Amino acid sequence: MKTSRSEFKWLQTVLNLLFPQNCIFCSGDRREGGEYLCRTCFNDIGLIHSPICFICGVPADISYDFPQDEFVCGVCRQSPYTFDRARSLGHYDTVLRQLIHHFKYQKQLGVLSDIDCLLEKYFSEYKKEYSGLTVSPIPLHFNKMRERGFDQAFLLARQVARVLHAPLESALLKRVAVTSAQATKTKSERAQNIKGAFEINRPEWVAGKNVLLVDDVFTTGATANEAAKILKKAGAGKVYIFTLGRVVVGKGLDR
Ligand SMILES: [Zn+2]
Ligand SMILES: [Zn+2]
Repeated sequence: MKTSRSEFKWLQTVLNLLFPQNCIFCSGDRREGGEYLCRTCFNDIGLIHSPICFICGVPADISYDFPQDEFVCGVCRQSPYTFDRARSLGHYDTVLRQLIHHFKYQKQLGVLSDIDCLLEKYFSEYKKEYSGLTVSPIPLHFNKMRERGFDQAFLLARQVARVLHAPLESALLKRVAVTSAQATKTKSERAQNIKGAFEINRPEWVAGKNVLLVDDVFTTGATANEAAKILKKAGAGKVYIFTLGRVVVGKGLDR
């Protein structure tokens, strides 16, 4: 049987989807890199380093903030968050954003393995800060999960718990309301939009626990803060937030 050109092309597309050969960011050859990223793009992931705000983790503007130890940013001083601390692995722009999109919207769950070494490195550096925490995802609404087929925050939380050797509790919170898209909303609109979106599954699972909530992206912190409020109301001790990506004002705000 002769294979026509269009059939060949189709086959190639399928094979590329199954076994991607090119870097998902630059389309270059990734043989030297990971499963999804080439070496150059991997090295281009913009990790977040100190100085950062001690509370929300936003990188300090060194020409303006004069950051010292336990520096607190203007946003945290003006309207304090309920969570105790938020940290992110890297900037949600360029490479990390593409990686998260691939993970979330294209269901390429394997992309997480490409950044596993970064998570290992991050958590081994800050091991002390994260000791004694129970890891839990910021949950998706059931309908959304059904539509998407998986819960990205749960998969991330599972990975973080594994790296930290910490207990994972997947159901401390449940999402009871489907919220409209947050992308075009301001910080206060986001806070209003997310209000009442979470409930506690069982108060006895939460009381007295120090929790590390995990999500893919931190934009204004409205979602993380609402989840923290509900946990604290139910008697949680400390609530820390960890996300893969962090939107820094003016950079990649598309959520
Ligand atoms: Zn690349
Ligand atoms: Zn801050």
